[in-house]
Amino acid sequence: MVIAVYPGSFDPATYGHLDVIRRASVSFDRIIVGVLHNSAKSPLFSVEERVNILEKATKDIPNVVVQPFEGLSVNFARENHAQVIVRGLRAVTDFEYELQMAQTNRVLAPDVDTVFMTTSLQYAYLSSTIMKEVASFGGDISKFAPPEIIEAVRNKMKG
Ligand code: ADP
Repeated sequence: MVIAVYPGSFDPATYGHLDVIRRASVSFDRIIVGVLHNSAKSPLFSVEERVNILEKATKDIPNVVVQPFEGLSVNFARENHAQVIVRGLRAVTDFEYELQMAQTNRVLAPDVDTVFMTTSLQYAYLSSTIMKEVASFGGDISKFAPPEIIEAVRNKMKG
């Protein structure tokens, strides 16, 4: 049984993240999406809200669970008996940082491997940051995430 964790901020999830989760769920027996609680960042959504959003958006994929976590991804992987960390690669700009992270994680935990999913072309430009930026100027974000997430972003920005 190969268990993979997919760690990230997911503030909030986009079609890009959901595409990675869906595709990874075919290759691995179980995907544990780890929503990072990082006290240094000030996210738009609380960790509980981000977990909730992802749970709803992935409810039709039976081998996916969503959990909050703090600290190192390799520790999160080990706690969940995962052999693999999944990350998404959009463009070469992601590569340098992701390679360094993967190599560091390899030193910290030689028993955990990092596997990269290359993004689907239609989502290569997409990030949570760009979605929030467009939304903050009242732009149409309907192509960036499912309707429930769009509504959550709109409500958050109103309040
Ligand atoms: P982090 O703060 O860890 O980068 P993110 O939530 O921004 O967290 O991203 C989590 C993971 O999802 C990263 O590996 C990132 O490269 C990947 N990702 C983000 N957006 C996309 C996308 N549009 N397509 C594919 N992968 C993506």
